[in-house]
Amino acid sequence: MSDLIAQIIRLANEIGGNTEFSRAGGGNASVKIDGVLHIKPSGVPLATLEAEDLVPLRINVLLDALRSDDPVGKDPVRVAAEKAQVRDVNGRRPSVEILFHALIPDALVLHLHPLTANALTCNQDGPALARRILADEAVWVDYIDPGVPLARGILRAREAYTARTGRPAPGITLLGNHGIIVSGNSFDEVAALVDSLTLRIMAAVDASPAPAAIPHPEITPERRSQVAEDFRVALGAANVTSSWEGLAREASGPAAGPVALGPLIPDQIVYSGSFPVVLEATATAADIKAAVSTFRTAHGRDPIVAVIPGAGVFAIGSSAEGADTALNTYLDALRVARDADRLGKVRVMDEHERHFIENWEAEAYRRQVAKSPSPTTPSP
Ligand SMILES: [Zn+2]
Repeated sequence: MSDLIAQIIRLANEIGGNTEFSRAGGGNASVKIDGVLHIKPSGVPLATLEAEDLVPLRINVLLDALRSDDPVGKDPVRVAAEKAQVRDVNGRRPSVEILFHALIPDALVLHLHPLTANALTCNQDGPALARRILADEAVWVDYIDPGVPLARGILRAREAYTARTGRPAPGITLLGNHGIIVSGNSFDEVAALVDSLTLRIMAAVDASPAPAAIPHPEITPERRSQVAEDFRVALGAANVTSSWEGLAREASGPAAGPVALGPLIPDQIVYSGSFPVVLEATATAADIKAAVSTFRTAHGRDPIVAVIPGAGVFAIGSSAEGADTALNTYLDALRVARDADRLGKVRVMDEHERHFIENWEAEAYRRQVAKSPSPTTPSP
């Protein structure tokens, strides 16, 4: 195995395998060798990525697609990927974020959705906070729809950085309401950047005022299992899982971003849905059924997560693993929103940004691969 391939797999497994940095199929990793980009397939977790999984794509074909405005008839990222692919890898689709991996010149590129850094990226004051905390060591990119628009936005931000400073763009890119990209030419270089940005943002959060206390409605352990079960039955789901401590109790106040305002990042929409159903601590089975029905009318889809503010969070899934991912992704969002509000003011995705992800075919594919018992035979 090439040394660079070994280094990107180690970055993916060691850093991406930590839920502080990525969960489920989120984030991706790539390495450039002799004009070929070897990138993680869509839906495969960074934690378990192996060298054999990497999809090889010709970089010059990807860069042509990034610059070209020729209409291609369907999703331009898929068309570019099909044209650029050197050989088939078990029918796997490469990550939808191939274009920004291709345009960053460093050999190793790691893209993460980290909880600490997202307190900064999911923030109304994001650009100012980035300057204060990371100075000129990061490029900031406002939220943009994934695929070609995001890659072009990153390219523009890198070029603007160089025009302003006279230096090449640095190895850290902050993506508003999304995550980070860290790049370099060795494992140590990339790992050091991830450590340093995480520690500096964490120190800024710790130096900010503690979150205000929220009310905690009393709910007995018997009632806890009952409401979770009533939610499962109301949705006809196979599995339900719940959390009544830590973030689920302390960061789920009625005004918290993911409770009251909307989703923070695309992964939250993919795994937990854009909004939870908000329930009273005294909700009966009939109340929960009615709340689910109201939710369906309002949002045109079923809820995945329910919240009793200040008490607990529960999530359904077609498998135990799916319910766990939905719950944990939502708890991640509660933590990010709490810390974003400490640093400044949380920014949630707006309606346009949200609808794009809710209706995006590529995200449905990713969710499908994540659920698939046999990951080599996904049905798109
Ligand atoms: Zn991403």
